[in-house]
Amino acid sequence: MNTTPYRIGIVGCAGRMGRMLIQEVLATPGCALAGGTEPTGPAVGTDLGFLVGATGVGLTVTTDAAALFQATDAVIDFTVPAATLYHASLAAKTGKVLIAGTTGLDASAVDSLRKAAASAPIVYAPNFSVGMNILFALTEQVAATLGPDYDIDILEMHHRHKVDAPSGTALGLGEAAARGRKVKLADVWRKSRDGQVGARPRGEIGFATLRGGDVAGDHTVMFAADGERIELTHRATSRVNFAKGAVRAALWARGRGPGLYSMGDVLGL
Ligand code: NAD
Repeated sequence: MNTTPYRIGIVGCAGRMGRMLIQEVLATPGCALAGGTEPTGPAVGTDLGFLVGATGVGLTVTTDAAALFQATDAVIDFTVPAATLYHASLAAKTGKVLIAGTTGLDASAVDSLRKAAASAPIVYAPNFSVGMNILFALTEQVAATLGPDYDIDILEMHHRHKVDAPSGTALGLGEAAARGRKVKLADVWRKSRDGQVGARPRGEIGFATLRGGDVAGDHTVMFAADGERIELTHRATSRVNFAKGAVRAALWARGRGPGLYSMGDVLGL
C-alpha cells in the first residue's frame, strides 16, 4: 500500500464544485490538498480553508495552473470547457492525473482530451456520481434483458431554476437504454407528450419532466409491460456525490498509465 499522501490540486477551486472538492479532499484519508487556482477574482490570494468555512490550511488560491500541476499528483477540474482543454495540455506535459468533470465539451474538445490522454491518465465523465453511473449500467443491462415488450420511459425532476429539459442525465439514461436495445436513441425517442399523440409505438423511449422546489435531481427509468412494471430510481440530495466520485476517480487513477478513462472504468462496470 502506498502511504505517501496523494497530493490533489483543484482548478476552479472557488466554484460550487471546487469548494465541495476542497472539503472532500480534506476529508479523504491518504489525500493531501496541494493547492487551487482561479483565473481571477476575489478568491485569488485567499487561504483554501477559508473558502469552505474551515480553518486556514496554509495554501492560497493562485492563478498559476502550470505551477499547480508541478506540485501535485492529480488535478481535479470542474471549470469551463476552454480551461479544461488548457489543463489537459498541462496534464499531457507533466504526465499528471487529470479528473475532468466540466460538461458541455463538444466532439472536438473530447478529441483534444483523447490526444492529451496519450501522455497522461485522464478520467472524463459528464456525471461523476457513483450511484448514477451504476444506474446507467443497470439501465443498459435491464433494457437488453427485457427486450421491446417492455415500454421504457424516463422521468426526471429538478429544481425550479433548471432551464433545459429533459436533463442531460435523463438523455444519458435514454442512451444507455438504447444501447441495451441496440438502437439509436434519436430514432426512437419522444422527448415529451402533449395533445393527440396517438398510441405508444413499440420500441419508443419516452421522457417526462417535472420542475419545482430545490430538488437536486431525481431520475426514474420505468420498464412497463403487461402485468408488471420495474422502476429504477436514483435521487441526488446534494452535489457532494459528484465530489466524492471525482476523488474516488483520482485515487483509482493513481499509478495508472496514460489513457482516457470513464467512470465506468473506475467502477469496473
Ligand atoms: P461554477 O461556475 O460554480 O464554478 C466554475 C469555476 O471555474 C469558477 O469558480 C470559475 O472562476 C472557475 N474557472 C473558470 N475558468 C477557469 C480557469 N481558466 N482556471 C481555473 N478556474 C477557472 O460551476 P460549477 O457548478 O462548479 O460547475 C463547473 C462545471 O462542472 C460545469 O461544467 C458543470 O456542468 C460541471 N459539473 C459536472 C458534474 C459531473 O459530475 N461531471 C457535476 C456538477 C457540475
